[in-house]
Amino acid sequence: KTVLLTGASGFVARHIIKQLLAQDYHIIGTVRSPSKANELLDYFNHPKSLKLSIVPDIATLGAFDNILIENPYIDYVIHAASPVSYNDDDFVRSYYEPAIYGTKNILKGVRSYGRQVQKIVFTSSIVVMDYEDDTINDKGATTLDETSWNDITWDSALALEIQPENVPKAYRASKTFAEQAVWDFIRIEKPTFAVTTIIAPLVFGPMELLGNLTKHDINTSNKILYSIYINHLKNQNPDLLHDGTVIKGDHICYVDVRDLAWAHIAALTNNQSNNMRWFITRGDRLYFQKVVDILHEKFAEICKDNLCRGKPGSYASLYSLQNPF
Ligand code: NDP
Repeated sequence: KTVLLTGASGFVARHIIKQLLAQDYHIIGTVRSPSKANELLDYFNHPKSLKLSIVPDIATLGAFDNILIENPYIDYVIHAASPVSYNDDDFVRSYYEPAIYGTKNILKGVRSYGRQVQKIVFTSSIVVMDYEDDTINDKGATTLDETSWNDITWDSALALEIQPENVPKAYRASKTFAEQAVWDFIRIEKPTFAVTTIIAPLVFGPMELLGNLTKHDINTSNKILYSIYINHLKNQNPDLLHDGTVIKGDHICYVDVRDLAWAHIAALTNNQSNNMRWFITRGDRLYFQKVVDILHEKFAEICKDNLCRGKPGSYASLYSLQNPF
């Protein structure tokens, strides 16, 4: 079976590639540049079942059409490409257009040319269901389910001033409108293929698949763990971020990237996921204090004179997820 995987160079996508290869899938990945393609192929040691195509701009109309025309035997699609890194500043061009048009392009392309495609899996994010960052604490326990959406509007997204503190909101808007484009398409077009959106919280996990990393190449979500170390070298409060914000770790869901990759692949063939939103998370919460404790335990020499200790062990499982099944 053949899978078209967009954004193949990304952190999550590389774990998807690794697991797809192990399960004998053929993969056609899209990347933005030949240098990314070469680096990725070198990393995986040029397996026969991994082909890469260059799509410089997923927002261009018909961006995926040629790949679908040239490879009419594609069975499944995973659309993971979307802007994640927090360093650009033109929200429409950098976030909204690639996320939304990229999503519409893959849907329209598959409808027109993907005759054999049975399923498209989209990587979505908890930010599409979430409240604005700071208000969730005030709401106490929150139940998220398949009907949950944040309340951001297109007008408010366009009105966001281009400032660093608005970047998470721009990301939130981009993912929200992208996932909504999926469900609008399904409702209006009633295509022959099914879709699943995989909704992920913060994704952490092994970075070796990213190749020769420097600290500048750490992907956005793993950078949060790194920042706990960097920002708390002498700081006594593990919940304090470098900009002075106090994060209460007990509401942060997270997932291991390998589990998330597994879920993408499971959804390809699992008909129970047809036209469903799947929220994938670990059952506990991210406590920065716990991260600090683990760093001290695993890297005692590096951490002993550098990393704050906070209050070791002072976290509790305040919330547990209810098993819906
Ligand atoms: P990465 O930044 O590592 O991967 C993003 C991928 O999308 C890269 O392949 C990147 O290409 C590609 N991409 C970004 N912008 C564009 C663009 N304008 N045009 C074409 N391709 C683009 O992030 P992750 O692996 O973490 O994210 C993968 C998916 O998972 C995304 O859809 C993200 O929204 C979602 N997600 C991630 C979470 C996390 O905590 N990491 C949480 C929830 C959802 P290039 O390598 O060239 O930059």
